Amino acid sequence: EAKASGRNTYRFFNEAMNRTANETYTLSLGLAKAIELKQFELHYQPQIDIKSNQLIGAEALIRWRHPELGLIPPNKFIPIAEESGQIVAIGKWVLEEACQQVKSWHALGLTDTVIAVNLSAIQFTSGDIEETVRQTLATTGVTANMIELELTESIIIKDAENVLEKVKRLKQMGCNLSIDDFGTGYSSLAYLKRFSVDTLKIDQAFVRDMSRNKDDEIIVRTIIQMAQNLGLKTIAEGIEDQATLDLLKHHQCDEAQGYLIAKPMNQEDFHNYILAKQRGNASTIQISTDDL
Ligand code: C2E
Ligand code: MG
Ligand code: MG
Ligand code: MG
Repeated sequence: EAKASGRNTYRFFNEAMNRTANETYTLSLGLAKAIELKQFELHYQPQIDIKSNQLIGAEALIRWRHPELGLIPPNKFIPIAEESGQIVAIGKWVLEEACQQVKSWHALGLTDTVIAVNLSAIQFTSGDIEETVRQTLATTGVTANMIELELTESIIIKDAENVLEKVKRLKQMGCNLSIDDFGTGYSSLAYLKRFSVDTLKIDQAFVRDMSRNKDDEIIVRTIIQMAQNLGLKTIAEGIEDQATLDLLKHHQCDEAQGYLIAKPMNQEDFHNYILAKQRGNASTIQISTDDL
């Protein structure tokens, strides 16, 4: 019986696994409550146009404000929520909150700012992602071109034909589409082109050391060139130093996101960041950031 065999398996866990299992168990129980009580917050990380240095958007990154454990990063609970299916409900909340935020930024005068939202594969296979997006846009009064949906290569590899249809319809609705963590999966650029994505987000794994590691630089340069040939935009994430940004500019990468520009900020700090940027002094002000 499941419980008994569960206990048997349990005995073989070493201490570290045991701790992880306990933590996972505690978190998965807590998640149901977190969804009900809306214990999540979105933090926002700026994205800039490399040539003009203008703010063009921000990525929404979820955190869980746990009453006892404090701020929990997404890598600790998103995989659990994906396994349990709770990601569908969380994803709806994320989309709605993100749409409300982008509206508030537009009200501050940044009318071209796009918000990027991460989507999980489960939201394509279990939830009705099209309907969720359509309804959220309608209720928040946000136009589709103000949101960018970040897909991973794994979304696209899963159940390809079915997903292809959904992705295409999101595109037809007017949403911007990007491929997150590009270069770490197995999809070819030619294949991605069929999904009518707009942007490739080059994974931090290649960006991080590209100013010191020639191989990484070559990989990044090649991705940019291939993207250009296919008419796709590129954004590099994980930029932590000026040398890397300079190199990306040299290789004609379009957009940039990383700690060098700014860390993810909570709603209030991001508003202040926008206001400082409008006064023209955002780069001289260090706004308080993520406490993760
Ligand atoms: P991601 O979508 O690839 O997001 C980028 C991650 O890199 C973020 O981590 C961000 O804080 C971090 N980052 C940005 N710039 C730098 C940098 O210069 N250096 C370093 N070392 N890190 C940088 P975060 O916020 O912990 O998110 C981790 C992952 O969790 C995300 O990776 C994404 O896959 C997932 N995630 C976050 N929010 C959501 C969400 O609302 N829904 C879903 N399904 N997944 C989400
Ligand atoms: Mg992302
Ligand atoms: Mg990424
Ligand atoms: Mg973009």
